[in-house]
Amino acid sequence: MSQHKIETICLHHGTVEDPIHKGAISPIYMSTAYQFNDVKEKKYPRYINTPNQEGLCKKIAAIEGGEHALVFGSGMAAVTTSLLSHLNSGDHVVFYNDIYGGTRNLIKKEFSNYNISYSFAAGSSVDDFKACIKKKTKGIYIESPSNPLLKIVDMKAISDLAKSNNLWTMIDNTFASPINQNPIAFGIDIVIHSATKYLGGHSDISAGAVIASRNHIDRIYESAKNLGGTISEFSAWLLERSIKTLPIRVREQNKNALELANFLEKHSQVSKVFYPGLVSHEDHEIAKNQMSGYGGMLSIEISSKIDPSLFFKNLKIIKPVMSLAGVESTANYPKLTSHFSLTQEERDHQGISDHLIRLSAGIESIEDLKSDIDNALKTSVYES
Ligand SMILES: *Cc1c(COP(=O)(O)O)cnc(C)c1O
Repeated sequence: MSQHKIETICLHHGTVEDPIHKGAISPIYMSTAYQFNDVKEKKYPRYINTPNQEGLCKKIAAIEGGEHALVFGSGMAAVTTSLLSHLNSGDHVVFYNDIYGGTRNLIKKEFSNYNISYSFAAGSSVDDFKACIKKKTKGIYIESPSNPLLKIVDMKAISDLAKSNNLWTMIDNTFASPINQNPIAFGIDIVIHSATKYLGGHSDISAGAVIASRNHIDRIYESAKNLGGTISEFSAWLLERSIKTLPIRVREQNKNALELANFLEKHSQVSKVFYPGLVSHEDHEIAKNQMSGYGGMLSIEISSKIDPSLFFKNLKIIKPVMSLAGVESTANYPKLTSHFSLTQEERDHQGISDHLIRLSAGIESIEDLKSDIDNALKTSVYES
């Protein structure tokens, strides 16, 4: 772990030197062909060892407080490579129920082809996970805060459970970002990010990252070279540039999300607000223990008198888009996007109602954001 503070690490760690022109920022090396010197030293993009990729790996490892990191072309490439490298035919793995839709599809669609079995924990308590552990279980995979209800899983409790059963642990830390939550400090082995979200932060890069100890990274690396979820040099360069402002972006997003949550909790047209920073959130105490900020994501249940599609149309600043975590605020309708493939019954069971809206707070003026939502709520009542 670097002795520098996070802001300094985000700016300076892993910068690629420019020995010829002495430019202040990393030059970009687009080469896919490098001189062959030695069998141990083959530089190639898919080996995640070109200058921009290596610099980026150093920076990301340092901001999560891990020994090493690997970068990928998407968050799902990071998820897939981490899981497949840690599972063999006949193995079993325990998943938290409220995981990202893409990860759920991966498990449901692909795992049986590899003879890998899995269970979903019924809830987020340690006992829910414990009940799923079998003789052939190899690991536990969690996500916290979860999408879209921002539920919190107790990382320390899960890592203790895993250690006493000789299992590895993985967490998808995308929603928290490394500014608000560093799972390795709580005993989690492997930390995964969709860097398409907060690490990138400008809705213009597709990337993923994994951070872990040398042992775990070595294992993931062997599969990474074969699975080939390579990040492009340009994305690697852009991501390094983006991470320089990660702390100030995320803190501003935390602040806006908390203000929006407080504002909307009192709003007459909002029946419920899901935000781990609110005292009313069911997992607030756990969040307080393991997060240094509560993140930029929140969900709201709007009154049944309001037409959700009209609400999206009537937002003027907040964009109704699929993704999240950019500097611009966005709104999303889980029923028709992330949770569309679920049946109505499954959605009801997970608590995803037809009036649930997920918000990703950006860095606009909070007053503008509040009045944008307020206006949209006032003008979107169903015609009777
Ligand atoms: C977006 C996302 C992913 C997948 O990342 P991609 O970059 O889209 O492949 C994984 N987990 C979470 C929590 C996400 O939000």
